[in-house]
Amino acid sequence: MTASISEALYELCGFARVSCEAELVVALEVDAGYRATAVAVSPTLPLSSFNLRNSRIFEHAWASSPVSASELRLPSAVINALPALPTFVLFVPAGLDHAPYSGLLLLWTAPDAPPPLVRHVPLLAGSVASALGRRREAVRQAAIRDQFNDLLESVPAGIVVFDGDGHGAMVNERAAQLLGTEPGRHEASDVAEPMRMLRERCDNRKELDALYEGHMANAHYSVTTHWMLGERTYEVDTHPVHGDGERGRIWLFSDVTAELRMAANLRKMAETDPLTGAANRRSLESEFARIMKTPGARDRAFSVLMVDVDHFKQINDTHGHSVGDEVLREVAARCRTALREGDLFARFGGEEFVAVLAAPQEAELTAIAERLRRSIAGSAFRSGTLSIPLTVSVGIASGTGRDAPPASFLATLIEQADDALYAAKQSGRNRVVSYTRQRLAG
Ligand code: GH3
Ligand code: MG
Ligand code: MG
Repeated sequence: MTASISEALYELCGFARVSCEAELVVALEVDAGYRATAVAVSPTLPLSSFNLRNSRIFEHAWASSPVSASELRLPSAVINALPALPTFVLFVPAGLDHAPYSGLLLLWTAPDAPPPLVRHVPLLAGSVASALGRRREAVRQAAIRDQFNDLLESVPAGIVVFDGDGHGAMVNERAAQLLGTEPGRHEASDVAEPMRMLRERCDNRKELDALYEGHMANAHYSVTTHWMLGERTYEVDTHPVHGDGERGRIWLFSDVTAELRMAANLRKMAETDPLTGAANRRSLESEFARIMKTPGARDRAFSVLMVDVDHFKQINDTHGHSVGDEVLREVAARCRTALREGDLFARFGGEEFVAVLAAPQEAELTAIAERLRRSIAGSAFRSGTLSIPLTVSVGIASGTGRDAPPASFLATLIEQADDALYAAKQSGRNRVVSYTRQRLAG
């Protein structure tokens, strides 16, 4: 674009020079600070930019008459470009609103006044103005494009922009790497195809297909979702962009693998007891609340096992706190082994553990609790030469969600199991006591 406008300006300069027998003709872009840039020169010679502030050129009411060069103070860059000292000068303002100092500068070195044809030169002003105006616009557009491209590459995301007319698409460097194509402008179909192939390679492609198909009918849909590609996960955002047509659309691919991994680690840390690796109390509560929201959960029976190590303080006192820690790890591991896969298990605090079991019959529940108790009492804890006999007391309680409001159901079961645990301690430890039986007995 700028190239063809420059050519037009060079032709205008050449035409003016030949027809007016001038030595030098320069098309000048002059900014508000009088800084002049030669955008076309005839004859073709390099002319750096220069300042015209003190040139007195703009103090003149220019008509078609050249003035004597001695009335002006021409910058040395211009004088040096001439083979001899200038004798006459004519400036033809282009008359551009946004650049009132731009125009065509004609210079003569011959001692005689320029030929009469010079009268016609101001007629060129319109052509000069339109060429300079177009050039300015083209430069502005190019600057916007450069800025846009810089922006596209500086954003830490893969970006694909489909034009509004649906024919073309732009792909930045990161998106090109992801799609296995070249950055820059493409036919829309040459970008849509690699995007489709990338989606097909995703582990969650079925889910993605369903998601995007659901939006197909609506040209203005916006969706943010995750594309899972093996080890890496991309957050992919797409929404319409309003450009020169209805089909403009942007796709942004952000690699969120590290963030997701960090979030998962943080979540895990927030949900896990660091000593035993078991879930913590908060995690047990939120997991149970999640289960209770599933259909039919309120009608099902649940049981809570409250497990407390007997005389644990003595272990600490006799063998030290770090042996106590090892014992807690061992107790947690043995409990976990005695439970079933789907049972919830958490360290409740200190040397207390809680298990939540789904819908066992009373006999089965007692059997599980007994198995757990025996898994602790059955063999001593061993570490090096140490051998520490271990026992736990277990309180159990059962109920259905209908027995209590959802928010306090678990708390109620835990309270009851705790009561039963207290009874187990009272009646000699190393035993299982059921809240119901204890109540019946009491
Ligand atoms: P009981 O049979 O009545 O349950 O007696 P106990 O000694 O087990 O119960 P008590 O509540 O008197 O003592 C529990 C002890 O557990 C006290 C506390 O210092 C210890 N404890 C709590 N958390 C930890 C821990 O993380 N590591 C260790 N080593 N000890 C802990
Ligand atoms: Mg305790
Ligand atoms: Mg205890």
